[in-house]
Amino acid sequence: MATVKFFGAVQEVTGSCHMLQSSAFGCVLLDCGLHQGGDRDKDEMASRFPFSPHQVDAVILSHAHLDHSGRLPKLVHEGFDGPIFCTPATADLLPVMLLDALGLYERDIEWENRRRLRRGDQPVSPSYTRADVEAALKLCHPIDYDSPFDFNDGLQITLFDAGHILGSAIVSVQFNEKGKTKKLVFSGDLGKSDTVLMRDPTVVKEANVVLMEGTYGDRDHRSLDDSFEQLEHILHEAWQRGGNVLIPAFAVGRSQELLHYLARLETQGKLDNWHIFLDSPMAIEVTKVFNKWLSLLEPEDLDASANDGHEIGSAIRHKLKFTVTPEESMAINTIRKGAIIIAGSGMCTGGRIQHHFKQRIWDNRNTVLFVGFQAKGTLGRAIVDGATHIRLFKEQFIVKAQIETVGGFSAHAGQSELIDWAGNFTSHPQMILVHGEADALDTLSEQLWDKHQIDAEIPFRGQTLTF
Ligand SMILES: [Zn+2]
Ligand SMILES: [Zn+2]
Repeated sequence: MATVKFFGAVQEVTGSCHMLQSSAFGCVLLDCGLHQGGDRDKDEMASRFPFSPHQVDAVILSHAHLDHSGRLPKLVHEGFDGPIFCTPATADLLPVMLLDALGLYERDIEWENRRRLRRGDQPVSPSYTRADVEAALKLCHPIDYDSPFDFNDGLQITLFDAGHILGSAIVSVQFNEKGKTKKLVFSGDLGKSDTVLMRDPTVVKEANVVLMEGTYGDRDHRSLDDSFEQLEHILHEAWQRGGNVLIPAFAVGRSQELLHYLARLETQGKLDNWHIFLDSPMAIEVTKVFNKWLSLLEPEDLDASANDGHEIGSAIRHKLKFTVTPEESMAINTIRKGAIIIAGSGMCTGGRIQHHFKQRIWDNRNTVLFVGFQAKGTLGRAIVDGATHIRLFKEQFIVKAQIETVGGFSAHAGQSELIDWAGNFTSHPQMILVHGEADALDTLSEQLWDKHQIDAEIPFRGQTLTF
């Protein structure tokens, strides 16, 4: 008998973590992600695992995003020492992600302890350290796409391209129990079929159980061409207004896509004379990893017009500045108009984008352009939902900048694509919906029934499924 237990990204989009167990191979975690939004990361890091990390034999990591990988160092800190299976590109992205998160975490702890010191309280000790990050990275065991790997003499692991971000994988695991072959497929995060740079999510046809994400289970995105036009229009309008454009963007994927889009506009002669800043040390590092792995990306998008074959966005090289140091970042503040600033964090929960908001969100000539999903409880979501004032650095700011959203650039499959992907299974698997807010999953479940008579289940946190 095999079981899957759902610990995170259950009726919510972050904190992906599921446990698969069988006497055939032991105990394997699918992802070990961080909950984001709402609570601070440090509280999340302090919270206990609902299982003993010692009992886990291996982790299979779908991709490098922190909501899938962020708690790996804590898992190691608490005794996990098995392999972490992931694709080679994920293994390259992981140090960038985990070290960046560590930096933010250490700063949070330092501030917390300064506050405690002033109050006369005991300091808190960190839940993990740099040594744990380094140990976790050493445990990474890369597996190429489409290459089955045998673990513990009982579990065959295959990773397929999920088309979501560089290195992202659909995880397929197969094992034998009492002469019966069982197969579980975990979608990880599925990409959109028409995303630039990423290939299409791999079609999988066989499984007994499927764990499918449903981030956009309740809606479709606008088409990419529409979004591209929308981007051109928003930028041109901001240019004519004499404003600046602030784009909160995830360091992995969206930032590189944006460079690609801007380069495409440039080659089409549709980009005004902007100064473009990639104002995120992390996104800059990730861009280097992307440039190393161009062979994994969609060949059609790597056309000579926007890329010289070695570098994403090479057509805007003369307008583009990578700002690494805080001083370089602060120097952007002196620019009055004509700057496109791409900065993290993607949901505005921290990072340099908050400093740019402080400088510019109260000025109606500027534009804040959202190009990614904004989870409940985040500053980004509040702004998208029409907040007239926001609090930053203990100060109140009025939101006067134009707030725009271009939805078609999502790295996630829209509703129809999810339904199509699920409909490809010919083996009538048990379909489990994860990684989506409850409403989105409800809608997706209804649609799966209407379109393919798939009876999908939506688990709750801590639920166990037997198969
Ligand atoms: Zn993701
Ligand atoms: Zn995710």
